[in-house]
Amino acid sequence: MSKEILFLKPQLKDVVWGGNKLRDEFGYEGAGDSTGECWGISAHPNGDCEIKNGTYAGKTLSALYAENRELFGGITAEEFPLLIKIIDAKQNLSIQVHPDDAYVKEHESCPYGKTECWYVMDCPEDASLVIGHNATTRDELKDMIHEGRYEELIKNVPVHKGDFLQIVPGTVHAIKGGFTILETQQSSDITYRVYDYGRLVDGKERPLHVQQSIDVITVPDNADKDALSHTDGLADNTMNQLISCDFYTVWKMNVTDKVVVDQKYPFLLASVLEGKGSVDGTPVNKGDHFILPAGYGEAVFEGSMELILSTV
Ligand code: ZN
Repeated sequence: MSKEILFLKPQLKDVVWGGNKLRDEFGYEGAGDSTGECWGISAHPNGDCEIKNGTYAGKTLSALYAENRELFGGITAEEFPLLIKIIDAKQNLSIQVHPDDAYVKEHESCPYGKTECWYVMDCPEDASLVIGHNATTRDELKDMIHEGRYEELIKNVPVHKGDFLQIVPGTVHAIKGGFTILETQQSSDITYRVYDYGRLVDGKERPLHVQQSIDVITVPDNADKDALSHTDGLADNTMNQLISCDFYTVWKMNVTDKVVVDQKYPFLLASVLEGKGSVDGTPVNKGDHFILPAGYGEAVFEGSMELILSTV
């Protein structure tokens, strides 16, 4: 039973569509003008976060998960199962789709497919995201992809700040420029690029994963109706559940006073989206990511801040 809060050192990713918010708004050390992703809590080999403080300082999350499984309630998942990111999209991301666990086990050398969910931290007024598509049969999907009829294929869904979206494998989706998103996802980095707007990166188009996309895209798809929920009117000073699925449970918590959180889960992941405060007297600030380990028990959150919390 550990009463130690584990803070993580984020892994930053510079990408063609990234912006400067992760440096200028969140103050992440090493972030620049085109940093698109902050992997705040990750044990993935493409961005394995180090523990910043305390007994386990300097250890990677993957090593901690391998060697100190008691901190994670002794769960048996072969790799640490979740990955938490803040995404700053200055420009559109490619239109993409993710495979499920069964598909990656057969076709990729990694254990997890990718179910992901987004809390929209910020976006322009009258914004939309690409969610789902218009093909009614797989043959029609193939024709539309092979003929490059992407504008006809994709659906755009109106989205507002504070909305929440669950993106299941097989859903065609794209984050657009202007969005800042907190993503909770399975620990997977497998993305099949359906369309990249013909954009040139270093003088050439990035490869599309046409066959894999046709394999995994759900047809027909109702994601444009099913994925989105609104979070207006959530109560302050309590954990408000946004989703619970096979892979994770995610909560939003707005702290304006003193909140006692009972950490009774295998672990509880926390990211501060806005504001500042403390957890059992330890200061926490916008952009901090931390883990309350198994057996932590009651934790007192105080201050003025917004958080996203998650567990398996
Ligand atoms: Zn995605």
